[in-house]
Amino acid sequence: MKQLSFITELFTESVIREMTRICDSKDGLNLSQGFPDFDSPPDIKEAACSAIRMNLNQYPVTFGEPELRNAISKKALWYNKMSVDPEKEITVTCGATEAMIATLKAIINQGDEVIIFEPFYENYGADTILSGAKPRYVTLRPPNWDFDHDELTKAFNNKTKAIIINTPNNPTGKVFSTNDLEKIVELCLKWDVIAVTDEIYEHIIYDSIQHLSIASFPEMRNRTVTINSISKTYSVTGWRIGWAIAAEDISARIRKVHDFLTVGAPTPFQHAAVSALNFPKDYYDSLTEKYTELRDQLFHILTNNGFKSYLPQGAYYILADYSNLQRIMQSESDFDFSVKLLEKTGVASVPGSSFFSSGSDSGLIRFAFCKKKETIDKVEMLFQNKLLT
Ligand code: PLP
Repeated sequence: MKQLSFITELFTESVIREMTRICDSKDGLNLSQGFPDFDSPPDIKEAACSAIRMNLNQYPVTFGEPELRNAISKKALWYNKMSVDPEKEITVTCGATEAMIATLKAIINQGDEVIIFEPFYENYGADTILSGAKPRYVTLRPPNWDFDHDELTKAFNNKTKAIIINTPNNPTGKVFSTNDLEKIVELCLKWDVIAVTDEIYEHIIYDSIQHLSIASFPEMRNRTVTINSISKTYSVTGWRIGWAIAAEDISARIRKVHDFLTVGAPTPFQHAAVSALNFPKDYYDSLTEKYTELRDQLFHILTNNGFKSYLPQGAYYILADYSNLQRIMQSESDFDFSVKLLEKTGVASVPGSSFFSSGSDSGLIRFAFCKKKETIDKVEMLFQNKLLT
């Protein structure tokens, strides 16, 4: 048989999804994958059922139902200070996941380079390779996950086509500051580079820190693709509704790629997403309040059990350094630590190496806290007397 796709040998399967499978096989408590274990808001569940009953069950408008594009445009103006033409500048996709690969396929030529901050959400590496570009990594350093401006400056060159930003960030919890974004803007303008920004956690942000969209800088308006979805903000990761906002010329190409990749995102869930995007401001306030409590609770549990954790500014993950526990667990790598932790305590996490290009031992593991309070209470019980003794 002729050789199968060579490019697919350049990345691995998702370790996050693999950890979920291992967790399920051991009947563990899944703090690995970022999906809520609590109910989605009842109003949008009803809106989805109602859309199905109203027979909105056939192919949607390929690039998104008009009602949803209007709702996205309205919310982008309110929350992101972005003025967006729903007719020409929005493409509704199957989650942020499809928005990212469709965007990269739409803008990349063979040999282009894409800058990615590391550690990074694992899809970005694979998406960059699948689109034919070479990833170039810039390090985010603990404890604040800052990047070195000189290192970023050196990463830009004539081949740089795009830079991927993820704010609030998975897995570090970093929220890119005005200063961070100004530096990125300066370099994007200098090197004629497109910013591709994944803002899926824009409402999960703590301690009164403000989310800032790079597309709201006037000079970036036409050179930014802003990606988002309803998965995290409205706790419906299985509905697969996301979108990409970009200037007309970029959107036209994203729409073409999207059309041939998936035709469209699920029609009834697009209609339900309209009601989600119209939620009052209180909804977002209570989301922040709920996640702040869960973050603080898990942070304390981890600290009390010997982990050195980094308190996130946003998103719903905690990265934890397990060096104090390595001897007790006798682990040989972060993957091994993660599996042993699951075997010993029943709590599943993700090895930090899955967020680094080298894939080698990072000394870190990631816990997701988008879970019921009772689930996090259970973590405390499961850890009790098993780690530091
Ligand atoms: N982007 C980031 C940073 C994520 O963490 C995730 C899921 O964990 C996704 C995208 C996937 O988004 P969606 O469910 O909309 O495809």
